[in-house]
Amino acid sequence: MPSIQQLPPSVVNKIAAGEVIERPASVVKELVENSLDAGATRIDVSVEQGGLEAIRVVDNGCGIAPGELNLAVASHATSKLRVADDLFRVQTLGFRGEALASIAEVSRVTLRSRTAAAEAGAELEVVAGQAAPIAPCGCAAGTAIEVRNLFFNTPVRRKFMRSVSTEMGHVTEALTRLALAHPQVHFSLRHNQRSLYELPPCDNPLARIAHFFGRELADALLWLESRDGDVRLSGYVGHPSQSRPNNRMQYLFLNGRSIRDRSLGHALAEAYRGLLLTGRCPVSFLSLELPPELVDVNVHPTKLEVRFQDGGRLYSQLLGTLRTKFLTTDLTHRLDAATAEGREAGAAHDAQRAAQLRSELVDWAKGQMADWQAPAGAANDQAANGQAAPAHQTRFEVPLPPAAAAPLRLTPLVGSAAAINGGHAGNGSGMAPHPIPASVSRAAGALQIHNRYLVAETADGVAVIDQHALHERILYEQLRERVLAGALEAQHLLVPEPVDLCASDAAAVLEERELLAKLGIKVEPFGGDTVLVSSYPAMLAGSSPVEILRALVERLTSGGRAPDRRDLLDELLHSLACRAAIKAGDPLSPEEVAALIEQRHLAQDSHHCPHGRPTELVFTREDLDRQFKRT
Ligand code: ADP
Ligand code: MG
Repeated sequence: MPSIQQLPPSVVNKIAAGEVIERPASVVKELVENSLDAGATRIDVSVEQGGLEAIRVVDNGCGIAPGELNLAVASHATSKLRVADDLFRVQTLGFRGEALASIAEVSRVTLRSRTAAAEAGAELEVVAGQAAPIAPCGCAAGTAIEVRNLFFNTPVRRKFMRSVSTEMGHVTEALTRLALAHPQVHFSLRHNQRSLYELPPCDNPLARIAHFFGRELADALLWLESRDGDVRLSGYVGHPSQSRPNNRMQYLFLNGRSIRDRSLGHALAEAYRGLLLTGRCPVSFLSLELPPELVDVNVHPTKLEVRFQDGGRLYSQLLGTLRTKFLTTDLTHRLDAATAEGREAGAAHDAQRAAQLRSELVDWAKGQMADWQAPAGAANDQAANGQAAPAHQTRFEVPLPPAAAAPLRLTPLVGSAAAINGGHAGNGSGMAPHPIPASVSRAAGALQIHNRYLVAETADGVAVIDQHALHERILYEQLRERVLAGALEAQHLLVPEPVDLCASDAAAVLEERELLAKLGIKVEPFGGDTVLVSSYPAMLAGSSPVEILRALVERLTSGGRAPDRRDLLDELLHSLACRAAIKAGDPLSPEEVAALIEQRHLAQDSHHCPHGRPTELVFTREDLDRQFKRT
C-alpha cells in the first residue's frame, strides 16, 4: 500500500466542487444565495448556452472589500460563521465557505466588487484555482461574478452535461425556487441575450407563483397558515383540481431556503388522500419559519436536505393544518363558465356565501369531532341492547323510508348500524350520522336522469351528482370509520369455501390475514396455494365470497412495491365500497334518490369519490344567469 499523504488544496477543492457544483444550475444557486446573504434587493442573472458557456450574476448587495477578495475565493473562508456554535444557529443561506472556491477551481471566474463606502471597485480573476493579482476597476456598488467554461479542466464532469435546453431547464428551476422564497427581491433571468423573467419585488409569493406558473393555477390555490410554538407554517396548496402527475410542483421553503423533506412530503400526500385520483400529486408552495437552532442545515453539501429536531411534530402540524383547511373549505367543483367580469361581479356574493358556509362547516366539523371522541363502545352497546340512540343521533338522523319499503341494496347507506347490518345487531359502529349544515342539506326536488345522475336544487344553484361516485364515497367514509373503531361485521359461512390462487397471491393473502380480518374476511391456509374463506363482509351479502376475495387480492398485489399499511387498508376499503355501491345504470326509486341526496353530507368530503373523481358538479344560479345572458 502506498504511503499516506495530505492532499494538495487544488485536489481538495476539486473534490468539494464535485459535491457542491454538479451543473450550471448549482453555480446559479450558490451565486444567487451569496447575493441574498449580502442583502441584495436586486439580482440579475444572465446565462449563455444553458450556463455551460457563461453565467453572470450581478447584485447590489454589500460588496466585498478589496482586501478580502482573495479570501472570498479561498476554501473554508466565510464571513458567515465565526465559532463552531454558530453552526447550530445558521441564519444565512451559506456558511461553509466553499462555494466560490469550488467554482473557481473548475472554471474561469471574474469577480468584481465594490462596497458602498469604497470609492473604486476591485477585480480578481481566477482560472482553475489560480488567482491573478487584484486590480482596481470601476463598478457599481455590489458584486458581479462571471463564471465561464464550467468544468473545462475536469473533462469527465463536462461529459456529464446534458443539452443546452436541459441545463437551462435546471437553471430556471433553481432561479424559480430562489425567487419564490424571496419575493421582496427583484430578479431577472436572461438566456443567450433573451429575457426570460423580469420579476419586480412584491410582498406576497402569489404574484411570483402566477408569474412562473400562470394565473389559472394561482387562482386555484388555498392559503393556509398555522403556528405551533415557535414554528410558523404558511403558504398555498392547490385545489384538488390542480393535481400533477409527479411531485415536482411541491415547493417547500425553510427559513428562505428551498429544501426537500420526505416526511413532510408524505404528510402532504396523506392530507390529500381521497381527494386526488390515484397516482396524482398535489401542488404546494409552503414555507416553514422556525428558530435556526431547531434545525440542522449542515447535513448535505448542497443543503437541500435538513434535519429537524422534532420532525414528528412538524409532520402533525402540516397534516393537521391541511385537514382543518379542507374541512372548512368548500371544495366542490364549480363549473367555470364565468367570464372575467362575471367573476368579479360574483366575488362579493361568493365571499359572503363562503363565510356562511365556512361557519356552518366549522360547526359541523365540531359535531364530528364530538362523535369521534365519544367512547366507541357506548353507541354499540346501546344498539346491541336495542336501546334508544343518544340524543345527537336522533337529532341528526336522516328520515328513513319505512323499513319494508327500503330496498335492500340501499340499506348500507341509510343511517343506523342495524340497517347497515341488514338487521344484525350492530357490533362495530359507534358511528352516528353526522349533523348536516342547514344550507347544504336543502336539496329539494331531486330527480334521477339516465339512471346514473341525480339532479338537485341547492340553496344557490343546481347540483348534478354521480350516483355511484357519491354512494361509494359515503360507504367508504362509513367503512373507514368503522374499521378504525374496530372491524367490519362479518357474515360467517356455514361451509367455508376453498379458493385456488397462484403462489404469490396465496402468500400475499395469508400475509395480510389480519388486515383482511378487520374487513370481515377470514382466511386460512388450506394446503398448496389454496386458501379457505370462512367469513366475508356482511355488507356484501349476496355477493360471492370467492369473488370478493379475488377482487381484494388484485388490490393487495397491484401496488408493485410493498404499500404502507394505511394505503393498503384504504385500497381495500375502496374496493369494498365500490362493490357495495349502487352502479351507474341502476334505476332508483324516488325514496332512494331522496335518501342518497339527504346523505351526501355524511361523508367527510363527499365532493370526490375515493378514486378522486368528483361526485358532484355545481352550477350556481349566477352561472346559469350568465349563460342565459340574464345579467
Ligand atoms: P459562504 O457563502 O458559505 O460563506 P462562499 O464561498 O459562497 O461561502 O462565499 C465566501 C464569502 O465570500 C462569503 O462568506 C462572503 O463574505 C463573500 N461573498 C461571496 N459572494 C458575495 C456577494 N455576492 N456579495 C458579498 N459578499 C460575497
Ligand atoms: Mg455561499
